[in-house]
Amino acid sequence: MMEKVLTRNFEKPGSHTLKVYEAGGGYEALRKVLASWTPEQVAAEVKKSNLRGRGGAGFPTGLKWGFVPKDSPKEKYLCVNADEGEPGTFKDRIILERDPHMLLEGAILASYAIGAGKAYIYIRGEFALGGERMETAVSEAYARNYLGPNILGSGFGLDVAVHYGAGAYICGEETALLESIEGKKGWPRVRPPFPAVAGLFRRPTVINNVETLANVQHIINQGAEWFASLGTETSGGTKLFCISGRVNRPGLYELALGTPLRRMIEQEAGGVIGGKRIKGVIPGGASCPVLTEKEIDVPMDFDSLARAGSMLGSGAVIVLDEETSMVETLLNLERFFARESCGQCTPCREGTRWFVQVLTRIANGKGTDSDPGLLLDIADHMAGRTVCPLGDAAAGPVKSFVTKYIQEFLPIS
Ligand code: SF4
Repeated sequence: MMEKVLTRNFEKPGSHTLKVYEAGGGYEALRKVLASWTPEQVAAEVKKSNLRGRGGAGFPTGLKWGFVPKDSPKEKYLCVNADEGEPGTFKDRIILERDPHMLLEGAILASYAIGAGKAYIYIRGEFALGGERMETAVSEAYARNYLGPNILGSGFGLDVAVHYGAGAYICGEETALLESIEGKKGWPRVRPPFPAVAGLFRRPTVINNVETLANVQHIINQGAEWFASLGTETSGGTKLFCISGRVNRPGLYELALGTPLRRMIEQEAGGVIGGKRIKGVIPGGASCPVLTEKEIDVPMDFDSLARAGSMLGSGAVIVLDEETSMVETLLNLERFFARESCGQCTPCREGTRWFVQVLTRIANGKGTDSDPGLLLDIADHMAGRTVCPLGDAAAGPVKSFVTKYIQEFLPIS
C-alpha cells in the first residue's frame, strides 16, 4: 500500500486547524530549517527531491527557485497560485479546505529559500470555505510566530496576504495572476522578462502551485531521497489525481506518479458506470489531448504522457464512456475556452469562437465534409501563436478529438 503524504491528515477531525496540524508534526520542518539550514540548503534539498510543479507544466521546482537572482537588491516575492480553475480539477481546493497549514508551511519554507519577505496566496474567489480556512490558518500562524518580522527568533521575517481572484480562469496563468494582484485586468504578459527577474511589481517573483508547495515540508522532514523514491526517475513524490466522469467512484486519489491510467480507473475509481466500455480519457484536465481506450495503459507521469502525445497537466482524469458524444464533449470544452479567453490576442480570441461555431453546427447535424479539416486548420493557426498557453490549451483537444474520433465529426452519409 502506498504511503500517503499529502492526504495523511485529511480524514482527521479538525485537520484544518493549527492544533491538529502541530499534533501531527506540523511546523517541525520550519523549526528545523530556521535553526540550522541556509536558504541554499533548502533549495538544494528540493532540487534533489525531483519535485516538479503540480499546476500543469511540471517544471522542476528547485530549478525555478534558482532563477531568482540572489544578488538583486530588490524585494522578492512568493505568489501561491490557488486559482484552480481547470475543468475537472479540484485538488488544490481540497488542500485549502482540509490542510491549509501544510500549504502555509511550504510557502514559508519556499520564501526562506528564495529570500522573499512577502508572500501572496491568490485564491479563486469561489473557494469560500478554502479561503476562510486559509485566512484562519494565516492568523493562527501569526499568533504562533510562524509568520511575522522575526519568525521563531530566527531573524527571518515573512508577511503573508490572502488575495482573492474573481473567478477568471486566465488569472491562473502566472503572469495574469501577477497583473491581478497588482490590481489590473488579468491579462497575461509577454515574456521575457520572466517573473523570476521582473514579476510582481516588476520585482523577482516565484509563482508556485498549492500542491507543489504542500510537498515541501515533507521533503525537509523526510529527505530528498525518500521523496524522490516515491515517484519515477524524473519526478519525485506522489500526485493528487482528480478522477471524474463516467466512473463508479469519482473523487480525489493520492497515488504514486507512474501509476498506470487504466489501473487508476478500474481499481481506484471502481471502473465505468454500468460496466460500459471506455471511449476515451482526458488524462490531465480540459486542456490535455484525449487518449483513446487503446492508449490508457500509459503510466501517469509527466514524461510518459508527453511521449503518449498528451500531458499530465493538473492530474484531472476525465473518463468518457462508449455513449459519450465526442462532438458534444469537445463543444463543451471549447465553450469554456471561448468564454475564458482574455481576448488579448487574435488567434485565441477568434479561434476559440470559431471552434464553438463549427462544433455547434456539427452537433446540430448541419456539419459538412470539410468541417473536420476546418477545425484542424483553425487549431494549426492558434497553437504556438499566442501570448499565453490558453491558445494551445484550446487547440490541443480539438486536434486530438477530431483526429482520433473523425467519424463522429463527419456528416452521416
Ligand atoms: Fe488571452 Fe488567449 Fe492570448 Fe492567452 S492566448 S493572452 S487567454 S487571448
